[in-house]
Amino acid sequence: MLDTTDKHIFSFGRGKADPCVDDLHRLGGKGANLAEMSRIGLPVPPGFTISTDMCLAFFKNGRQMPDDLREDIKAAVAHLETVTKQKLGDLENPLLVSVRSGAQVSMPGMMDTVLNLGLNDETVEALARRTNDPRFAYDTYRRFIQMYATVVIGVPHSLFEERLETARERAGVERDQDLGVEDLQKLITGYLIDIEADMDDPFPQDPYEQLWGAIEAVFASWRNPRALTYRALHAIPDDWGTAVTVQMMVFGNSGMESATGVAFTRDPSTGEKRFFGEYLLNAQGEDIVAGTRTPDPLAPDPNSKRRSMRETLPHSFSQLQQLATMLEEHFGDMQDVEFTIDNGSLWILQTRSGKRTVTAGIRIAVDLAKEKLISKSEAVLRVDPASVDQLIHPMVDPNAPRKRLGSGLPASPGAATGAVVFTADAAVEAAEKGQDIILLRPETSPDDIHGMVAARGIVTSRGGMTSHAAVVARGMGRPCITSVNSLHIDHDAKVARFGKMVVHEGEMVTVDGSAGDVLLGKVPTIQREVSGDFATLLGWADEIRRMKVRANVDKAGDAEIARSFGAEGIGLCRTENMLTSDLAVHLMRRVIMSDSERDRRTILDELLPLQRAALVDLFEHMPGQPVCVRLLDPPLEEFLPRDADKLVSFAKKVKRDVDDVLLRAEELKELNPMLGNRGVRLAICYPEIAEMQTRAIIEAAIEAGQKSGAPVVPEIVVPLVSHFKELRYLRDKLADAAADVTRRHKAKIRYLVGCIVEVPRAAIRADLISGAADFFSFGTNDLTQTTLGISRDDASHFLSKYLQLGLIDHDPFITLDRDGVGEVISQAIEKGRQANPSLLLGVTGEHGGDPKSIRYFEELGIDYVSCSPYRIPVARLAAAQATVRNGG
Ligand code: PEP
Ligand code: MG
Repeated sequence: MLDTTDKHIFSFGRGKADPCVDDLHRLGGKGANLAEMSRIGLPVPPGFTISTDMCLAFFKNGRQMPDDLREDIKAAVAHLETVTKQKLGDLENPLLVSVRSGAQVSMPGMMDTVLNLGLNDETVEALARRTNDPRFAYDTYRRFIQMYATVVIGVPHSLFEERLETARERAGVERDQDLGVEDLQKLITGYLIDIEADMDDPFPQDPYEQLWGAIEAVFASWRNPRALTYRALHAIPDDWGTAVTVQMMVFGNSGMESATGVAFTRDPSTGEKRFFGEYLLNAQGEDIVAGTRTPDPLAPDPNSKRRSMRETLPHSFSQLQQLATMLEEHFGDMQDVEFTIDNGSLWILQTRSGKRTVTAGIRIAVDLAKEKLISKSEAVLRVDPASVDQLIHPMVDPNAPRKRLGSGLPASPGAATGAVVFTADAAVEAAEKGQDIILLRPETSPDDIHGMVAARGIVTSRGGMTSHAAVVARGMGRPCITSVNSLHIDHDAKVARFGKMVVHEGEMVTVDGSAGDVLLGKVPTIQREVSGDFATLLGWADEIRRMKVRANVDKAGDAEIARSFGAEGIGLCRTENMLTSDLAVHLMRRVIMSDSERDRRTILDELLPLQRAALVDLFEHMPGQPVCVRLLDPPLEEFLPRDADKLVSFAKKVKRDVDDVLLRAEELKELNPMLGNRGVRLAICYPEIAEMQTRAIIEAAIEAGQKSGAPVVPEIVVPLVSHFKELRYLRDKLADAAADVTRRHKAKIRYLVGCIVEVPRAAIRADLISGAADFFSFGTNDLTQTTLGISRDDASHFLSKYLQLGLIDHDPFITLDRDGVGEVISQAIEKGRQANPSLLLGVTGEHGGDPKSIRYFEELGIDYVSCSPYRIPVARLAAAQATVRNGG
């Protein structure tokens, strides 16, 4: 292919398209796909795309188009005029164009568009003559002035709304479509007067002046507030810029043989393979996107009386269906196709991989692989691991009593409960106070994006499955219902009326996005399980992935959930979380208050059965799997009551001198408990505790193994180790305790001993430490805390400032700090494996469930990640993707 980096404008149409290197980046998704569609012979209106580098140049040039670009655009327009046999500004056969944005990834509705450009007081007459339809011509001119003035000149939209309302009243009609030619002409004159009064400048009549204005406005919209919010939300880089596509207009509003619509090759809500979509007869695209008119279905819908496109325009319907299928096969993914029918001729305006719900995304990926359009690994790569999180989260309990306020289209599934608000700003304000919010709107526009982010769920009274609210909510995983016809919002009274039922601002409702029902009050939700296509996809992920996925659990119930989600053992059982019963806490307090080792041992003998029973319960839920149990980690003072009264009553209960008890509690207090006597240090100071726990672990493994027939492989892990000698000293003690148990029970049990690597010194001396360890478990929570010197409990308020300023890209407690903590881990692995090649490596901090971090752990050769039960499906998928991306 030619090197096209010096070229900034790329023409397409009539079966051809200029070649472009790195076309997705430079032409944006829309431009690249238009060029590709033109190449494969689809009917796309001819036009040209100005590359994204010019958007960056526009900003660099003080928000002005570089001069030489104007010359290049003029040449591209001349070419377009030849191809279309029309001419910009011509008084016989005027060329009208659309000017649209298009970034590398689609940002629906976030940037600006101008349609019908090229119309003025004279060309409108030419259009009327050419189409023999003056009403259409003047309505198109009215739309153009309205759009251009708001988008490019910055005239407030309300100005046009008022004029339009007056025009409707004067003409005695209810709908804009019913205004006649003279009404429209008067309206246009009024618009032009208002604009001139408002801006001190007449509306531009020169088509080129219009074109420069529109292109600059589309470039500028890359940095409008809603685009900035959307990019921040979806982590889209600011330096990509948008391309601008200038394309010959085709008209969906030119009569009853004309229409505009959106088609999906599969259902974007469920993923079902059915041709799905909506259209509006005699309308332009913006009417659908804005959600101001409720569109009709493409294919007949048994539940609706609306006339489908198959019935009204059967020929165009079957042509569209055929082309859409072709596009899906060509691009290997579900397509979202925008089309226009202009007097019976079908035009494809845009195609892209359709936004979809997570459920639909999984079903589509699985079906495409089964249809052999893509491979299984490609299917696994298609689903964003972070998004599957929402599938494991609750849905409205189908058996719970429900009082339905209203229903509409199930635009985005899931369940959410919250207090109702009626504006995006109110949603943000209430969410900042920690309230769960449901946003109720007549319809949403891109200006509401901040409110949609803040809300748990969204309900609109108008719009369809493809209107702004639906598309954006699906992308964000928020439940959403559109077209709730019975909903009327009274902003002044701050109430929403669902027919006769009234809901005041602040009252609770539940959104059942899967059923499309708005329910009164808080309705119970239930947990979902991994089944169907999701289970199939995870099964494929399991075939692919190299790393194992374990769970961080310490309760039998959680272990069961973890197993149901596919956990392959337990990576971390925090024993302090097992000793929470009143009796266990009481015994621990007695241990802490004891003066001698002998007394402590006697009390620990009483604690042993409790520890053992909890472990047996846990082990029974993980038959045959490895289970890593951590010796006591927190500082002892955490077992003591905070207030002195409780200490006094404890002293009385155990018949101890109150002053002695208070003094001992005082002695245990540390200024920096997290850097104090905890982890391995406790075990060194009080080895009898570690010994009791070791006994409990080995005895529980024997007992659970006898019960289940498949013993676990216990792994005993020592927290906070930094010196080789600490681990070796303790390992001998643990080995003695374990040997004593196996001797007494005449049992053989294979167990491992390792340490949590969570302070940098352990990583630095991994060569020595690995000599005493069978495994390393990277405790990345503490390792992040100790490497960065940032408290994991207090960091969020200043880290948010760092994030805001762009000083860091991620919160290091969520996504591993690759360059710092990652380096420490990498060193530990290298040194550890060199000295002990069979060293087993796991990650048990929160990062074990974070897809980005998992990618890095794969590169490092970690053997398993361990995370909370609900993150396990996410981790299974992320680990498989990491294997594929790492070339495995
Ligand atoms: C860690 O520090 O990463 C860890 C696994 O343990 P905890 O979160 O209990 O400190
Ligand atoms: Mg830790």
